[in-house]
Amino acid sequence: MTGAAEKPEGSEPGSDEAKAERLNFIEQEIEKDFALPKLEGKTLTTRFPPEPNGYLHIGHAKSICLNFGLAQKYGGTTNLRFDDTNPSKEEQEYVDSIQEDVRWLGFDWNSLHFASDYFAQLYDWAVQLIRDGKAYVCDLTPEETREYRGTLTSPGKDSPYRGRSPEENLELFEKMKSGEFPDGSRTLRAKIDMAASNVNLRDPVMYRVLHAHHHRTGDKWCIYPMYDWAHGQSDSLEGITHSVCTLEFEDHRPLYNWFCENLGIWHPRQIEFARLNLTYTVMSKRKLLQLVQEGHVDSWDDPRMPTISGYRRRGYTPESIRNFCERIGVAKFYSTIDVGVLEGCIREHLNKIANRVMAVLDPVKVVLTNYPEDQVEIMEATNNPEDESVGKRELPFSRELYIERSDFMEDAPRKFFRLKPGGEVRLRYGYIIKCEEVIKGDSGEVVELRCTYDPETRSGMEVARKVKGTIHWVSAAHAIEAPVRLYDRLFLSENPELAEKGKTFLDNMNPDSLTTIQAKLEPSLKDLTPGSRVQFERNGYFCVDTVDSKEGEPVFNRVVTLRDSWAKMQAKGKAN
Ligand code: ATP
Ligand code: MG
Repeated sequence: MTGAAEKPEGSEPGSDEAKAERLNFIEQEIEKDFALPKLEGKTLTTRFPPEPNGYLHIGHAKSICLNFGLAQKYGGTTNLRFDDTNPSKEEQEYVDSIQEDVRWLGFDWNSLHFASDYFAQLYDWAVQLIRDGKAYVCDLTPEETREYRGTLTSPGKDSPYRGRSPEENLELFEKMKSGEFPDGSRTLRAKIDMAASNVNLRDPVMYRVLHAHHHRTGDKWCIYPMYDWAHGQSDSLEGITHSVCTLEFEDHRPLYNWFCENLGIWHPRQIEFARLNLTYTVMSKRKLLQLVQEGHVDSWDDPRMPTISGYRRRGYTPESIRNFCERIGVAKFYSTIDVGVLEGCIREHLNKIANRVMAVLDPVKVVLTNYPEDQVEIMEATNNPEDESVGKRELPFSRELYIERSDFMEDAPRKFFRLKPGGEVRLRYGYIIKCEEVIKGDSGEVVELRCTYDPETRSGMEVARKVKGTIHWVSAAHAIEAPVRLYDRLFLSENPELAEKGKTFLDNMNPDSLTTIQAKLEPSLKDLTPGSRVQFERNGYFCVDTVDSKEGEPVFNRVVTLRDSWAKMQAKGKAN
């Protein structure tokens, strides 16, 4: 083809209008569905259906933002439903944390449900299928059931119990329910097709016998519905119009449809999207539970965890996580997102909202020999150059200060623009100082820098000469000391799940994911409330820990560095 491409009708490509017009594939399907008679007079109804067997992680955040976001966009509603059909792994602690996390992300559900509330209805529907000759009680053991199921390439074979009469099935199912059979001895199965190419349709199990205590129904039930038998019907009961889930359920969709059709009940539409994977991150609840239980991290909300509660404690904002989910979009195919994208989102938000403060993480003392001994000046510091409305604060300046050890270099290269012997540097909001003498300890380490200051260079004054570097500092007499936790990635390899032979994801953990130091901070930080976020100038964004801080004794967590140091390190071939 030659010649210029024809310009498409409508808005300029890449313009805001074009972006607004672009719908993701789920939105496109939803808009098509609402043009059909089936959905006439209805509003979009979605649900977020977590299993309460762990804390929510960043992958769940994607699902939450998607389900609640769709409903918001189309003026519909979203339910929160606990998929609590598996009694042995579920706990109230998880139910509570999940609600807290969804709310913290900024969403509110229309109504709260538990799949266990539907146990009685599900039982009645099972009876209906038995009466219709579409379900039967099967006595095969779990191993035999697996064997009879066949494989992806070979068909299954009929269970010898498949031909039982509805009467016999009803009686046996009743006995299953009343506790006459031991665990695993019998199942109720849908009678579909043992030769179906989709393995999920080969007479799937609907109920299993399990004498287990349930966190809500107690000991009332000793048969529990399987996921496939519970999920679609729960959606149906709640009038869900679109059941949005992850791709691993794509092959279950025909079964979802079969149950709704054969029961003759409201039939929601299931649409699948690709689950979120992040580099340097494990996401399955089972593995996260292992990290907690084996003490590799302190808790579910350890700031290194990819859980929503971990990010919250680390200092992430709900806005940054919602923005991340928006930015990565939804896709039909698996991909892995660079964790740097998430870090970029929080960096971007904190740049706008976090006050800048002075904190010296690795202090070395500076004495200004020509500064009056008892003098204290109050400097004016800008809280946030990105936001004038937060104004200024006072910063004490005195004869003895701390600066960052790395801001001094004895044998400095020509391009080192910070402090060096005989060299000058500007102290932010202070004066230009000159290094006159270096005092060392017994082992040769620098213990003190004797400097002079130039009284004619106070910040704001006109100064004739140029000094290239500006460094941060705190006044020694006024500084407070506080523990600062420098968090780094929990895993060293990009895909921690891909462990070498004989190793597990645990072998890919970063031994230096946490370094705690004692830092010198400007006095205004003493009374920050837990959860407050600030930028330590030149050092990164930090948050006052909500668990370990006490009144007047803050503990700081590093949220994120100022720049993406990993990208740089990797470029140099240093990381991993
Ligand atoms: P995990 O495998 O991590 O334990 P799960 O899928 O078993 O997760 P559920 O509690 O069943 O966890 O998930 C609730 C909802 O969140 C489901 O709709 C599920 O598809 C979705 N979800 C779970 N993990 C992700 C992810 N990584 N990305 C997007 N959505 C996810
Ligand atoms: Mg699950």
